Amino acid sequence: MDLPETLPAFRPGHVWLVGAGPGDPGLLSLLALHALRHADVVVYDALVDERVLVLARAEADRHYAGKRGGRPSAKQRDISEFLIALALEGKRVLRLKGGDPFVFGRGAEEALALAAAGIPFRIVPGITAGVGGLAYAGIPATARGANVAVAFITGYDSTGEVPEQVDWGKLAGAIPVLVFYMALAHLGEIARRLIAAGRRADEPAAVISRAATARQHVVEAPLAGIAAAAERAGAEPPAMLVVGEVVRLRRKLDWFRPDTI
Ligand code: SAH
Repeated sequence: MDLPETLPAFRPGHVWLVGAGPGDPGLLSLLALHALRHADVVVYDALVDERVLVLARAEADRHYAGKRGGRPSAKQRDISEFLIALALEGKRVLRLKGGDPFVFGRGAEEALALAAAGIPFRIVPGITAGVGGLAYAGIPATARGANVAVAFITGYDSTGEVPEQVDWGKLAGAIPVLVFYMALAHLGEIARRLIAAGRRADEPAAVISRAATARQHVVEAPLAGIAAAAERAGAEPPAMLVVGEVVRLRRKLDWFRPDTI
């Protein structure tokens, strides 16, 4: 596929922090594909789909720099230092992350390290799972009449626990649609806190696993029963929890057939 000639050159010694989207390679941006075609080194994380990686130049070095299971990573600093070292060697460095690099992807930390080291960089946004993954599950993040706001929340903080900084009362009271990333470990606890903070126990909820991949799986249940339903279904990471009336629209909008990807 020919890419527009107006795309910016990927220069030696530069780092591009690129979002690869939730899975389906068709969701890559032109800039992301351009970066894959020109990078000398691709440093990718656990959420980047294999079918995206194969689009990299055959001669490109590939380095896995992922972390799994949401454990706090002692290696974040190492990853940033690695990116800086590669750039100083004069490589075109592609830092490839699942979804969007600035949404729960620690892209900000890496970009700040690059900025502090004086390394030129570019941010290429990707389709975040909280939007694109929902779309593949037939759940609009917003729908007229259903919600005028949506929140993205992390299901755990750097200690691995449900984040204490969340004001559950305000969140539950003010935001009609809640999308929890990294939700699987604490589904029951999140649902309990939301219901204690005033959300209806029978409010529609869904757990979306491996969205936009051949192994996409969606479990729907009332909020009070979503943790048990996800467990029964054997929901696997990466997964998001969606709470809100928009989940009902899936009955009519469930368009994606994972076996066609
Ligand atoms: N930067 C990413 C998020 C990284 S945090 C983005 O913008 O999408 C990792 C969490 O993202 C996972 O625990 C899960 O909640 C969510 N996630 C990422 N890809 C996903 C996918 N294909 N299906 C479901 N959830 C996904």
